Amino acid sequence: MAKAIYPGSFDPITFGHVDIIRRIESLFSEITVVIANSHHKEYMFSSEERLQMVKDCLPQSSRVNVVVSDGLTVDYARGSGADVIIRGIRAIADFEYEMAMANMNKKLGPGVETLIVFASPEYNYVSSRMVKEVARHGGDLANLVPPAVGAALSRQFRQNSP
Ligand code: ADP
Repeated sequence: MAKAIYPGSFDPITFGHVDIIRRIESLFSEITVVIANSHHKEYMFSSEERLQMVKDCLPQSSRVNVVVSDGLTVDYARGSGADVIIRGIRAIADFEYEMAMANMNKKLGPGVETLIVFASPEYNYVSSRMVKEVARHGGDLANLVPPAVGAALSRQFRQNSP
């Protein structure tokens, strides 16, 4: 069975990400959620917070684990012996970016295949960015993120409000 990585910002993890992990879990011998920590990118949550949130939300399974990485996705894939990079597409707006990234990763790491998983219809409007926007305005997060993430988002905006 192949080994996969699922890289992303996970800032924060949403039910959309959780859904992808649940759906692909049985297809691979191992799935590693790789939390990106690019130094030039600004995140709402630190890499430690994002790591903890993903851990709290993952299905109880020895097949799924989570790490933080600040390097290239293909380098992490090759270094860990992964054969497949999982990415998700919600709508046409994601397509060009995901295709460019898959082609770049193919160039950099020819042995690693990108596999695209389409979002489930109930989550195809859910993104970390939108979820933060909802939280900023005190909206209901119950159907968007797991409870621990909802609590962390609410804390974040309570702290930042005047
Ligand atoms: P990045 O900053 O690398 O895009 P994200 O955490 O936003 O990181 O997303 C990681 C991957 O998960 C991306 O391929 C994205 O398209 C996918 N994704 C995000 N939200 C959803 C969702 N609701 N359903 C399916 N895939 C999703």
